[in-house]
Amino acid sequence: MVDRLSSLRGQDRAVSLLRRYFETGNVPAGLLFHGEEGTGKEKAALAFLAGLLCRNRMEDGACGECPDCRLLSSGTHPNLLSISPENHFIQIAEVRRLKEELSLKAFSDRPRAALICPADRMTIQAANALLKTLEEPPPETHLLLVAHRLSRLPPTIVSRCQKIPFRTMPDETVEEILGALQAKGKRHSPASLRAAAACAGGSPGRALLLLEEMEEGRKAWVGLFSSQDPQAVSS
Ligand SMILES: [Zn+2]
Repeated sequence: MVDRLSSLRGQDRAVSLLRRYFETGNVPAGLLFHGEEGTGKEKAALAFLAGLLCRNRMEDGACGECPDCRLLSSGTHPNLLSISPENHFIQIAEVRRLKEELSLKAFSDRPRAALICPADRMTIQAANALLKTLEEPPPETHLLLVAHRLSRLPPTIVSRCQKIPFRTMPDETVEEILGALQAKGKRHSPASLRAAAACAGGSPGRALLLLEEMEEGRKAWVGLFSSQDPQAVSS
């Protein structure tokens, strides 16, 4: 399943910036999705790269049906590359591997996209190695960096990318997003949704984690009091 830009809620500015790139066809080589954790950056980056790879792109992103969208959905699109931390950090060896792959001819005639997430986990050596690719990108290649903290990235990397800012949201918007996700499956009481949204600092991702923690806590209490062993309650 390929997400579209309209599936992102509460991030109108980011969505309109990304839509404009699709409209003009003028997509920068380096894009930096940045902002608080849990505000939709990675989801946006995935929806955007789906639009880049799609053969029948619409203003909202990928069509979801063409051969490229199908390859992307199955996780086998040859023009999508990605790197993520191994042992907490993205090391220079991973960036070198990415650069090597980018130096080869692309398998398909679509643009190539590399997702680096979270980019603020790159070591300084890895970031310096990536900088050269940002300065002289191979043709039709786009690097999508996702970062929670801009301050953890070298300024040289930040200045080479177009920044897509993700903001924290009002509690009501977080509650609405939780409610919409709830409609797709999980069941929590309206009071739980409101409590999680109120404590999440404007981040739907954090609110989801809080909901899970609250549910775990509730189960633990129920388990404790339904236990046959009186020791379990008194201990
Ligand atoms: Zn498509």
